[in-house]
Amino acid sequence: MNIKETIRSIPGWPIEGVIFRDITTLMQDPDAYRKACDLFYERYKDKGIQKVVGIDARGFVFGAVLAYQLGVGFVPVRKKGKLPWKTIEESYALEYGEAEVEMHEDAIEKGEKVVIIDDLIATGGTIEAAIKLVSSLGGDIVECGFIVELPDLDGRAKTGDTPIYAMCEFE
Ligand code: AMP
Repeated sequence: MNIKETIRSIPGWPIEGVIFRDITTLMQDPDAYRKACDLFYERYKDKGIQKVVGIDARGFVFGAVLAYQLGVGFVPVRKKGKLPWKTIEESYALEYGEAEVEMHEDAIEKGEKVVIIDDLIATGGTIEAAIKLVSSLGGDIVECGFIVELPDLDGRAKTGDTPIYAMCEFE
């Protein structure tokens, strides 16, 4: 079973020129979903991870499972205006549009080993914002894990020294 083959591609959505890589087809396939979750778990189980940070919203679907499997806490990075307590925030440009993300200011302890999970890295703007949020609280980011990388958009250029892992790539 090949994870990449379970991802649906939708040309021209949400705007002209973007090919949307739709992981809902991966998530609704029980073997693919389990395989993707297990790949993250196998990769991070011996790394001393203390918190999993998941990015709104598809990063929650994989990040929460990983936190459960690792037996550690889960922290959401959310789009602006969703978190009820005191937050820190970062704004960034998307492949399409602009956005702002927030995290609770007490979500990460200084020095905690963190892995950040999202479904896809495109231009890297989203993960760059998440890296800044975690770093500003003193988190030690072991790696950022994705299902999909779009290498043509060179998201890695925005992530500096932080290691990036992706299960598959689309041109
Ligand atoms: P970026 O900040 O450009 O790296 O964009 C990554 C975020 O936007 C991820 O949270 C993705 O879910 C979403 N995204 C951006 N481009 C695409 C795409 N072509 N297909 C699916 N999701 C995308």
